[in-house]
Amino acid sequence: MYTLGIDIGSTTSKCVLLKDGSEIIAKSLRVGGLGTKGPDSSVNDIWESEEVKKAGITKKDLDRAIVTGYGRRNYEGGDGEVSELTCHALGARFVFDGLRTVIDIGGQDAKIIRLSEDGRMTNFVMNDKCAAGTGRFLDVMANILTVDVDDFTKIAEESTDASPISSTCTVFAESEVISQLANGAKMPDLIKGICSSVASRVAGLARRVGVQEVCCMSGGVAKNGAVRKALEEELKVNIAFDPLAQHFGAIGAALWAYNEHMRKSKSANK
Ligand code: ADP
Repeated sequence: MYTLGIDIGSTTSKCVLLKDGSEIIAKSLRVGGLGTKGPDSSVNDIWESEEVKKAGITKKDLDRAIVTGYGRRNYEGGDGEVSELTCHALGARFVFDGLRTVIDIGGQDAKIIRLSEDGRMTNFVMNDKCAAGTGRFLDVMANILTVDVDDFTKIAEESTDASPISSTCTVFAESEVISQLANGAKMPDLIKGICSSVASRVAGLARRVGVQEVCCMSGGVAKNGAVRKALEEELKVNIAFDPLAQHFGAIGAALWAYNEHMRKSKSANK
């Protein structure tokens, strides 16, 4: 049985094709979320992928597709939609055993999801009102510094003395970074300071619901090692990372599609 998870975010569109609810056959990621060609291109990449072609799978073999993410309600290419919270929790649990906390930082929001011992969502807290504490803050700063956000981890590692960012508002922080640059602040120190600022905002949010290990990050900012490290220091927990982190939402949607399809086929066979 093949199911597809489509996660349409604010910044990127991700897809995962799952076999029998247990094996990832293919994944895709396109820059461009809601209102762009990103979602269609990302779905198309799955069907055009080497893995899918090699396995001889075609669109006709697809049993169910579920859409999640910020843009899920406006996308018509799926059989249903499910909330991002549910999908990130499901997807992260697919990878990490005994998971109790998910820290999801995407392009436009941050969420902390608490799970019970048996994996049910028990609580969550979310920031979708302010860019500080989200990928957006990092993207804005990367743009000012003319550095690729993908290089933040590597550059921040060279920092000897992080430059703290005192402004909590993205617009003011932008001016602060520009004036620190003009005053000769070093790039690694600035980038480390920027990443710590995001971590500090998210840690404040996380403390509201409490963080318990096993704790992992999901969303694209999980790939930013400097944010991850600063969060570990702030929250005094280990934060697990998996290279699939940005796809957890899509994995969760594909799993949801699998469970739904199983339920429907069981009731049809009764
Ligand atoms: P959304 O689901 O809201 O579209 P994502 O979960 O895809 O967002 O995360 C997008 C964010 O992830 C970007 O704003 C960027 O800051 C960050 N990001 C993506 N890839 C990387 C990378 N390789 N290194 C560091 N940060 C990254």
